[in-house]
Amino acid sequence: MVNSTYGERSRVYLFGTGGTISFVGENRTDFANYSYRGTQLTIQEMLARVPEAEEVADVVAEQVINVGSTEVYPSDWLTLARRINERMSADGAASGAAVTHGTATLEETAYFLNLTVRDRRPVVVTGAMRPPSAMGTDADNNLLDAVRIAAAEQSAGRGALVVLNNEIHSARDVTKTDSYRVETFQSGHMGYLGYSDSDGQVVYYRRPERRHTADSEFDLAGIDELPRVDIAYAYAGADGTVIDALTDAKVGGIVAAGLGSGGSPAPFMAGLQRAIASGVPVVLSTQVGTGRVLQTRRFMEQGYIVADNLHPKKARILLMLGLTRTTDPSELQRMMLEY
Ligand code: ASP
Repeated sequence: MVNSTYGERSRVYLFGTGGTISFVGENRTDFANYSYRGTQLTIQEMLARVPEAEEVADVVAEQVINVGSTEVYPSDWLTLARRINERMSADGAASGAAVTHGTATLEETAYFLNLTVRDRRPVVVTGAMRPPSAMGTDADNNLLDAVRIAAAEQSAGRGALVVLNNEIHSARDVTKTDSYRVETFQSGHMGYLGYSDSDGQVVYYRRPERRHTADSEFDLAGIDELPRVDIAYAYAGADGTVIDALTDAKVGGIVAAGLGSGGSPAPFMAGLQRAIASGVPVVLSTQVGTGRVLQTRRFMEQGYIVADNLHPKKARILLMLGLTRTTDPSELQRMMLEY
């Protein structure tokens, strides 16, 4: 894609939700305990540290929540997606939206936005692995990159994006792979889409193929709460205890994080069969990180929905949204293959 300079003066809406990118540690070598004191910058204070962002666009900053991202809940996804949709639809001249977020659940929020922000303009999620108070922090640069990407017209139509470490990922494919390294966000075999690079340019090499944002069928109007979906993790010797508990709790759906190509030990699969018999939709995904779960003869005969190559956490989000529209397994299967 063409390297753009930023054209007309752009406007970017910047939403703060907290995370390491907002925390203030004890001293410059506090890389581990910074959330203990609970001192956080507001999104306005974070933006004030990066005056370069205002050279790229007029940035309108808004605090949505200010928490570590282990405390981001599905209700917060609804609030954030609604707020982005409201701001963007009220301002046809805005270039895009950016979100700052903790890295622990960043990929989940980003994929939810990928499915529920109904706009071609970019929504870019970023975080940091080192707080703004630490030596070598990535907070300021990631914030600047998020604004740059949201302001760049070539970012449009690529769904929700994630940037850290100058690498632009699709929200669908990205996952956190390391607990402390700055290059933690990776997209496995799919790779990242482009760079927000050292010359200030936003450069892409490909775009996601799956449905997202403006092409999504999911509509949050009238939805106050998302259906409950849980993930059951398989391992050698896993049985159906957890799955039966979920079925008894009348969850809306179950995603199995299966072994290898999606299968799991017989007692675990028997639990999934009991869930299906009770009317609970079950999606089979794989915990290995890359590759598809196929519509094999056995899986189809036994009534499973397969997650294709969606990470279990992403399949859960898609199933939650799918269940707002239908409980028909064939429709839910279609969604797993389209998004
Ligand atoms: N504990 C942090 C959080 O997810 C981790 C981070 O932001 O990097 O909020």
